[in-house]
Amino acid sequence: MKAIAMARFHALQLSLRMRFTLGLGAVLLPFLLAAAVGLFYLLPRLVDPLEDIVREVTEEMNPVMHLQADLLTAAMPVNDYLVNGDPGELMRFIQLSHRVELAFKEAAPERFSLAQERELIVSARREWQEARQIGEALLRLRDPIGDPQAALEMKRFDAHVYLSVGLLEQIHDISRRFIDADRATARVTRTRSILITFGAFTAALTISLLVSATLARSVLTGVDALRQGAARLSAGELSHRVILAQRDELGELATAFNAMAEKLEQNQKVLYELATRDGLTGLYNHNTFYTLLADELARAQRFKRPVALLMLDIDHFKHVNDTHGHQAGDTILKGLSELLNHQARVIDRVCRYGGEEIAVILPETDSDAAADIAERLRASVETQPFDINTGAPVRITVSIGVASWPLHGDGADTLVAAADAALYAAKRSGRNRIRRYEPMRQG
Ligand code: GH3
Ligand code: MG
Ligand code: MG
Repeated sequence: MKAIAMARFHALQLSLRMRFTLGLGAVLLPFLLAAAVGLFYLLPRLVDPLEDIVREVTEEMNPVMHLQADLLTAAMPVNDYLVNGDPGELMRFIQLSHRVELAFKEAAPERFSLAQERELIVSARREWQEARQIGEALLRLRDPIGDPQAALEMKRFDAHVYLSVGLLEQIHDISRRFIDADRATARVTRTRSILITFGAFTAALTISLLVSATLARSVLTGVDALRQGAARLSAGELSHRVILAQRDELGELATAFNAMAEKLEQNQKVLYELATRDGLTGLYNHNTFYTLLADELARAQRFKRPVALLMLDIDHFKHVNDTHGHQAGDTILKGLSELLNHQARVIDRVCRYGGEEIAVILPETDSDAAADIAERLRASVETQPFDINTGAPVRITVSIGVASWPLHGDGADTLVAAADAALYAAKRSGRNRIRRYEPMRQG
């Protein structure tokens, strides 16, 4: 199990091109093996017996068959002479004997592979020579017809001829046994060839099924992950990444895909920051303030929880600008934003409403708690000197108006108006202070 997992792991490290090449090689392998076995093992075992059969027939059986025929032919003039007494039979016998001798030369013992065959040939020749002597003696008798002694010699002559032919027949029997053995070998080889061919096809089919299934799975897994990744990315899920263990072309594609998604996600963050934040202070901008306030009010209404709003304005900021310059004014504005962000709670939202006016949304906060937070912020600004890089640090104060939902307004606009009214009440009553919205006095 572990070995298979390792093999798969290693397969994943190969490129698709390499895997396809190896797969094709694996499919071809059984055919190559079958061809090699056929060429170097089966073919010699098929051809050798057939060659043996041909050699057996042409070099051993044919000369022996001719010899047998010549022996039987040569016996005829002797038999005829005892019937017709024709002296011409002697000449015919001498000619035919000569043919038999030539046939014995054709079937010389050294042409036979077995000692037993060689012995049989030698014995057959000996029998023939016996017969030949008897035959010649018979053919030299003056009056053979009706001679009982001649008839007896004739029987001896025939016995030697037939013995010689019979001995030669035994060579045929041996050859036939060899041919039968060779044929059996050829038959076995033929059966093996069929089995090996069938085995090669079965192995190739099995391997090609396994290879194609493995390749398909390894490719489809990657393609599927990439397809899903593309779908999720196009649906706006920029944080999605395609996780592929393989280091092939699909793995490279996944890496490129992830790099693209990363870039898109970063760009989207930058765009989001640009669209929602103020460039100078880094606080939420005017538009975002209203979005956040609407969200908080909706949440507060849904859960019946309070939400408060602070509206903060720097006191006599025009004077600061006039005295230290607008760049110093910008630096102070940035420093104030940092201080407020630092002092506010994690759930609070500090926004630049406009100019040097800052709005702070306080979720889960009622009017009293909001007034406490406002006072804390006011006091921390009062005690914080702002470094403007040139000359002595500058101190500023702020006035803050406090309004809360549902006490001082039923929506974003009324709440902002209430906080604004409270801010101006704070300004009117001397600055560097906080004021809660008081409907009777400020409305
Ligand atoms: P007060 O609020 O106490 O009544 O007096 P003020 O002098 O602060 O009066 P007001 O709030 O009406 O004036 C706002 C001034 O703030 C006007 C402008 O010069 C300055 N200001 C607004 N935005 C910026 C800014 O981004 N940078 C700088 N340096 N100054 C700004
Ligand atoms: Mg001001
Ligand atoms: Mg102002």
